[in-house]
Amino acid sequence: MSNLYDLIIIGAGPAGYTAALYAGRANLSVLLFEGWQPGGQLTTTTVIENYPGFHDGIDGKALMKEMRDQAERFGTKYVTGDVTKVDFSKRPFTVSVDDGQYQAKAVIIATGAKSRTLGIPSEQRLWAKGVSTCATCDGFFFKNKIVAVIGGGDSAMEEANYLTHHASKVYVIHRREGFRASKIMLDRAKHNPKIEFMLNKTIDEVLGEKSVTGLRLKDTQTGALSELKLDGMFLAIGHDPVTKFLDGAIKTDENGYVLHLENTMTNIPGVFAAGDCVDHRYRQAVTAAGDGCMAAMDAEKWLEAQN
Ligand code: NAP
Repeated sequence: MSNLYDLIIIGAGPAGYTAALYAGRANLSVLLFEGWQPGGQLTTTTVIENYPGFHDGIDGKALMKEMRDQAERFGTKYVTGDVTKVDFSKRPFTVSVDDGQYQAKAVIIATGAKSRTLGIPSEQRLWAKGVSTCATCDGFFFKNKIVAVIGGGDSAMEEANYLTHHASKVYVIHRREGFRASKIMLDRAKHNPKIEFMLNKTIDEVLGEKSVTGLRLKDTQTGALSELKLDGMFLAIGHDPVTKFLDGAIKTDENGYVLHLENTMTNIPGVFAAGDCVDHRYRQAVTAAGDGCMAAMDAEKWLEAQN
């Protein structure tokens, strides 16, 4: 396999796969770096009901597999593993993984975003021992147990509703009284008899030795501490873009989201970006896919102009 491609795509979510599909159909040679979790965030979600074309919704993993296979049909080659380094200072651009270097005339960054964590030591200590960011992955382990979901956005409501299929009780713990969640998702959670809301509370400590046995909560208004007995804590407090590996090679905003200079092109001509690593506003599968399409079309036009 030659190591020089027309286009390297970094990231295997809807943006990356859609970019690969469009670039492949435009006859570009395409290499896509999939990381260790091909399919990205959608593989950890429940049924996706808002991706057009699926009347009854579609499982996240199944949708991602379809996208991957479709891009492969048009010639995309895949590399499993995380990109550790990029060199955009000269052309062709170089992208490195642990065991090799690959080059391309153009690059699309579509690395998405990762779940945020609280950043307290007890959360790390009890990671995967009752602390999780993925109800779909780990909910099964909490059959008839008590769990909490942290957050007040759509993810928190979705996770809480999903967890009621397994757990006997689900607390939604949120640090204030207002919610970012959409009304429909919030109402669904509020009407679920297994869900109880605890507002104006933050997590002071995750309790437990070998596994989670409870949470120490802090009231944001009074500062009072209290303990809540439970078996699991699911974090749903938002996401951060996966752009640290770029190590300043392209311009980002102060939160690490890639900045577009012109259409989907970054400040480096020939390097494009698409999906959740750029977009902190919409963050939907369908918008990421649309972004991937635009980046591939921009890359194709740019490559044509170079020739
Ligand atoms: P989000 O809307 O940013 O909500 C994050 C929540 O976590 C907020 O309530 C925030 O509290 C809280 N939070 C953040 N940092 C915290 C911390 N350190 N400690 C305690 N709480 C913290 O994120 P999201 O729920 O993941 O949603 C992201 C996007 O995806 C949204 O556009 C959403 O609509 C979309 N989404 C859609 C669906 C669906 O339609 N099926 C499902 C999931 C997500 P504050 O409000 O106080 O900041």
